[in-house]
Amino acid sequence: MKIPRVPIAHLPTRIEYLPRLTDALGGPQLYCKRDDQTGLGFGGNKTRKLEFLLAEARAQNVDTLVSVGAIQSNHCRQVAALSARFGYQCILVLSGDEPALASGNLLLDQLFGAKIVWSTRDNRLQMLEDIVKTAQHEGRRPYKIPYGGSSAVGLMGYVEAMKELELFPEKFDWIVIPSSSGGTQAGMLLGAKGAGFTGKILGICIEGNNRELHSTVASLMREGAELCGLPPVSEDTILVNDHYVGGGYGIMGTPEIEAIKLLALTEGLLLDPVYTGRAAAGLIDLVRKGFFNKTDRVLFWHTGGTPALFAEPYLSLLQH
Ligand SMILES: *Cc1c(COP(=O)(O)O)cnc(C)c1O
Repeated sequence: MKIPRVPIAHLPTRIEYLPRLTDALGGPQLYCKRDDQTGLGFGGNKTRKLEFLLAEARAQNVDTLVSVGAIQSNHCRQVAALSARFGYQCILVLSGDEPALASGNLLLDQLFGAKIVWSTRDNRLQMLEDIVKTAQHEGRRPYKIPYGGSSAVGLMGYVEAMKELELFPEKFDWIVIPSSSGGTQAGMLLGAKGAGFTGKILGICIEGNNRELHSTVASLMREGAELCGLPPVSEDTILVNDHYVGGGYGIMGTPEIEAIKLLALTEGLLLDPVYTGRAAAGLIDLVRKGFFNKTDRVLFWHTGGTPALFAEPYLSLLQH
C-alpha cells in the first residue's frame, strides 16, 4: 500500500567517505550518510518521519501539532519548524527545568513559535495526553505526534530512506546508528530487503538496555509491516548494543566528547552530544576492539542533533 507523504526533506542525503577517520582508526572503510542535512530547521532523522506524519495530520484536517521530548529534543525542534512552515500551532511538552536563557534546540523551538509546556520526565507522556484533551476542549483540532515520531506511520520515512542506498556504487556490510525510540532502526530493517541491502544494521542504545530496545524495535517492525503490507521481518535481524549508555540519556561523558572531537578534527564533521556522539563513541570502540573486518564497509548514519552542541551543559563541557 502507498502511504501518503509530503515531500519536505532535502533528499537523497549524501553519502561521504571518511578517509581520515578510516586512517586514524586503521580501517574498516568508514562512510557517513548525512541525514543531519535533511534541511528542516537544521535537519535530522525526524524530518523523514515527519514527511509521513504530516500527511496523516493533513488527512485529519488538524490545526495544531502536539509532541513531547526532552528539553533539547531534536524531534520537537523539527516538529516546531514543520509547524511554522505549514502554518500549524505547535505545542511541545518538554521534560526538564525551564532555563533562564534558552539555548540550542530550545532556542530554536522558541524562534519557530512553539508553545512550551514543562513537565518532569516521568510525567511527560501523561502530560501529552492532557494537553491534547485540553486543546480539544478549547475547540482546537490537535494531532498528537508520538515520542520521537516513532509510530508505524513515522517509521515509513526510514523504510523509504533505505532505497537511497541503491544510488551509491559501493555496498555496505554494516550500518551503525544511534537508536532510542526505535523508529529509525525499525524502518531501516523493514526497508532493507526492498532496497537490496544485505548487510547488518547495528543500533547503539542511547538509553535503557538491549532487552527494552529490542522489544520496542520488534513491535514497531510488526506495526510497520502491517501498515504497508510488507512481509514480516525476522526479529533476529534486530542488533542492539547497550554498552555505551554511560550516565544515561543526555549525559555526555568522556567517550562522547572524544568521539565528537575525533570526527571534528579528522573530517570537519560535527556530531551531537546526545545521539550521534554516543553512537560514534560505540563505533570507535568496536573498531578498536576488532569487531569489524578491516575490509568491511561501514556506514555511520548521521541522524542529526548538532544544535545541542550549543546548549548547556554541553557547551561548557566541550570547551578546549
Ligand atoms: C531521535 C534521534 C535519534 C534516535 O532515533 P529513534 O528513531 O528515536 O531511535 C538519533 N539521533 C538523533 C540526532 C535524534 O534526534
